[in-house]
Amino acid sequence: MIVYCATSNPGKLREFQKAAPDFDVRALPAKVPPPDESGSTFEANAAEKALAYGQHTAEYLFADDSGLEVDALGGAPGVYSARYAGEHATDADNNALLLDRLKGIANRTARFVCVIALVRGGQLVKTFRGAVEGRIIDQERGPEGFGYDPLFYCDAVGCTFGEAGIEQKMQVSHRAKALNQMFTYLRNTAST
Ligand code: IMP
Repeated sequence: MIVYCATSNPGKLREFQKAAPDFDVRALPAKVPPPDESGSTFEANAAEKALAYGQHTAEYLFADDSGLEVDALGGAPGVYSARYAGEHATDADNNALLLDRLKGIANRTARFVCVIALVRGGQLVKTFRGAVEGRIIDQERGPEGFGYDPLFYCDAVGCTFGEAGIEQKMQVSHRAKALNQMFTYLRNTAST
């Protein structure tokens, strides 16, 4: 089954394709300008993106919204994860700001959250949520992944996501959990 995904992030696309080898996960063929992410929840932003991009195909299409929630920062950066250090912030800028905000703070617990919204024919079908627990260490470790991965130590893999390879990350990640729920839903729906 072809499923289109709305992302311009090559790190995410790789993870989407890795999650379900029995699906043909494709980036949208047309260059579509990204919609604003104006919602205050991952669910609202994922649905907003999926409905905007879904106008360009009659097939199933999904979009995700994801981010990092740090307990000591009241859940920040949350839905602002990509632009924590400003509208055009790089991963390095965001990571530096996060370390700065956590300076001297002992409680480093955090989680990555991913919500996927699935649409078809311009209608929202369902949303799926996945999360993975970890903690923010005080120095980047590992060249793998993207975003906050080098700062996110995950007990389930015993290293940072920057040190884990994509295979290991996809065993436990927020994105894999949300994707697995969606692909299970699609398999069940397609077979009925
Ligand atoms: P989105 O594209 O609006 O979903 O923004 C997601 C942002 O959250 C990314 O740019 C990263 O900063 C962060 N993020 C989400 N998932 C991950 C992950 O798996 N690893 C590292 N950072 C992530």
